[in-house]
Amino acid sequence: MVKRNVKTIVPTHTVLEGGGFKVRRPVAMGSLMSPFLLLDEMGPVNYGPKEAIGAPAHPHRGFETVTYMLEGAMQHSDSAGNSGDLNPGDVQWMTAGRGIIHSELPHPDFYQAGGVMHGFQIWVNLPAKDKMMPPRYQDIPSNDLPTVVSTDGKVWAKVVAGEAMGAKAVIDTVIPIQFIHYKMQAKSNVSHAVASDLNVMVYMFGGSARINGKLVEDGQLALLSQGSEIELVSEQGAEFLVLAGPEINEPIARYGPFVMNTRQEINQAVMDYQNGTLA
Ligand code: MN
Repeated sequence: MVKRNVKTIVPTHTVLEGGGFKVRRPVAMGSLMSPFLLLDEMGPVNYGPKEAIGAPAHPHRGFETVTYMLEGAMQHSDSAGNSGDLNPGDVQWMTAGRGIIHSELPHPDFYQAGGVMHGFQIWVNLPAKDKMMPPRYQDIPSNDLPTVVSTDGKVWAKVVAGEAMGAKAVIDTVIPIQFIHYKMQAKSNVSHAVASDLNVMVYMFGGSARINGKLVEDGQLALLSQGSEIELVSEQGAEFLVLAGPEINEPIARYGPFVMNTRQEINQAVMDYQNGTLA
């Protein structure tokens, strides 16, 4: 077993997205960490009644968006008539493939009442051969997502994709992805196995932990070196995501909500959207 080291610590900055939605986002994410294109921690933000905002209808092509709610409630709907609610702990794994047009808005009840909104949206790139695949949704309620607790009871993990402490995901991914939500109590440790051929990053969003000795703190994204396991030790307790996936060694052409390989494919996506043939 080769332990992975922290190669780079990427700080996060707070930006306003989609008409004022507060997100914490690692700097220069897009170019650093194939196959992940974006990692947004949405909130936490405490909305008053009728204050919550979201993203009205917009298109995507060529990649996947993963939404993981921690607090609050969203409602999703698309131009093909699909819709669904996202409540705390739920995941939507959406493969845009050749194209979808969707809206991601606060649930109407949440909008009326207000409250705390907190969650993640992560963009996963697709290789050229899968960019134009038919769109698909995997909407998984929290209770159907596997969770596991370490034998000493001090470490909890929810398996969105991949595998942790013997628990396997129910979500099917196009390319091999690990997406694990970990919570470590104070004075605990865990060893997380991950295939050597995957890139790995750890996003800390509460507390802190040492990864093979190197301290990673709240709001930091740690990019890890190659290896087959991640050794984490936390003094104060920690909450973080482990994200892993293969290097997609292809050119990236990106324009807003479209992520393709060439400028021409981007132009095609814009034309399809304008002509009403994207989705
Ligand atoms: Mn979207």
